[in-house]
Amino acid sequence: MAPGLEEQQNHQGGHQNLQQSLAIYKASIFRHQEIGHKSLLQSDALYQYILETSVYPGEPEPMKELRELTANHPWNIMTTSADEGQFLSMLLKLINAKNTMEIGVYTGYSLLATALALPDDGKILAMDINRENYELGLPVIEKAGVAHKIDFREGPALPVLDQLIQDGKYHGTFDFIFVDADKDNYLNYHKRTIELVKVGGLIGYDNTLWNGSVAAPPDAPLRKYVRFYLDYVLEFNKAIAADPRVEICQLPVGDGITLCRRIS
Ligand code: SAM
Ligand code: CA
Repeated sequence: MAPGLEEQQNHQGGHQNLQQSLAIYKASIFRHQEIGHKSLLQSDALYQYILETSVYPGEPEPMKELRELTANHPWNIMTTSADEGQFLSMLLKLINAKNTMEIGVYTGYSLLATALALPDDGKILAMDINRENYELGLPVIEKAGVAHKIDFREGPALPVLDQLIQDGKYHGTFDFIFVDADKDNYLNYHKRTIELVKVGGLIGYDNTLWNGSVAAPPDAPLRKYVRFYLDYVLEFNKAIAADPRVEICQLPVGDGITLCRRIS
């Protein structure tokens, strides 16, 4: 091959690769213009970069197994993402959480992240109307040796919270409460969780950016379920920002999580 030709071909190949990468990048940005995508980041490529560089390498083996198992389930859109699982795990360790609650379990990805992050005598009161999905993930949780921390209650969460409040002895006892269930009940949950979390403790409300729809123009094309819950999420976000009993931090992790620290 004539000197320089290989280099030129490499250069052309590189150029083609660059063109290809640009096309993929543009396509991924275009895809993100549709309201209702799972990630709130600027592009799929950027999200993938975070997962591959910073999340997957340190993801505990049982969480990987549960994530892969859940990926085959028809409702997998509901699962907590791996980056959010990583965030929850870090947060729980930072606040030395021991007594926690989760509303909305599905197959248990955030539950497992929590169970792995708590000390051996840590507790999670976990509620879901659907036991079947919880039981799909349960063998993985058992194999990970953390099932003893979980008290799973099948059924709607509100009556369980009411019972805890009525009992009296649970007031201000939870270090962390993760709310990830029916979005139309978030304000009802908040009325109760605020009494059950301790002063200085945290409540995390999930999906509070609701696929980015909270800031979408009125005529934006929204998936049916996104449109259905949008007004509830908007109302919740306004109310929580005005609640003097908590200080909040809105994080664009996953689908948006609002952290509320109880201050009074
Ligand atoms: N945190 C879960 C995870 O990491 O995979 C995802 C939870 S999923 C988004 C929402 C869950 O809330 C569903 O499993 C659903 O059955 C449950 N749910 C819906 N309404 C509920 C209610 N009133 N009380 C308790 N759970 C409820
Ligand atoms: Ca969620």
